[in-house]
Amino acid sequence: MQITEIYKSLQGESTHAGLACVFVRLTGCNLRCVWCDSEYTFQGGRKMSSEEVWNEVTRLNPSGGLVEITGGEPMLQERELLPLIRQLLEAGYRVLLETSGERPLERVPAGVVKIVDVKCPDSGEADTFHIDNLEMLTAHDEVKFVLSGRADYEFARDFTQRHRLAERVNAVLFSPAFRKDATGARDSSQCLLDPQKLAEWMLADDVPARLGLQLHKYIWDPAMKSV
Ligand code: SF4
Repeated sequence: MQITEIYKSLQGESTHAGLACVFVRLTGCNLRCVWCDSEYTFQGGRKMSSEEVWNEVTRLNPSGGLVEITGGEPMLQERELLPLIRQLLEAGYRVLLETSGERPLERVPAGVVKIVDVKCPDSGEADTFHIDNLEMLTAHDEVKFVLSGRADYEFARDFTQRHRLAERVNAVLFSPAFRKDATGARDSSQCLLDPQKLAEWMLADDVPARLGLQLHKYIWDPAMKSV
């Protein structure tokens, strides 16, 4: 597997936010979201065997707990990744898989919590979600929309309602995008969409979703990596 980094931090943007988590960040992505804060994963990294990744995860979190598989787009390395995920599940780890849903998810083990980041129009990657993946969502999964303006909000609201997402998954998350060059201030002035405005829109429309903030960007400098 090509790996950008493996580190321990707090999970920042799901219903698991605030919990200690080991992140396995895979290299490579087939999308180019305009606000992407993970461009450093597009290239480079280092080749690691599944055993080396396993050894690092168990060193950082020997007693089990949360492991998030992220990227980049981790499903681009599905062939090597899925056996490792099965191994982690069998050992009792709770595995989160962050994916855009552009790749088919049918082979992802049922025990994995999929956090599917459906791309909105202003990301520049609209219509990349593989619609058949809706049928792969289970009651413990989560669907996330990263929003940078009103058009994104309306897309997410309508998608949520049209596909009855709240009945399919554990949580639907609406999250304001951060500026990708954000640095210094650890507050919502760095968001492309004001969380207060988003909250008011969600309340006005009674959207069955929760507003999510990227917790780690309020704890550490938004430009900091490996947190
Ligand atoms: S899918 Fe994720 S890693 Fe890929 S460009 Fe979009 S935000 Fe960045």
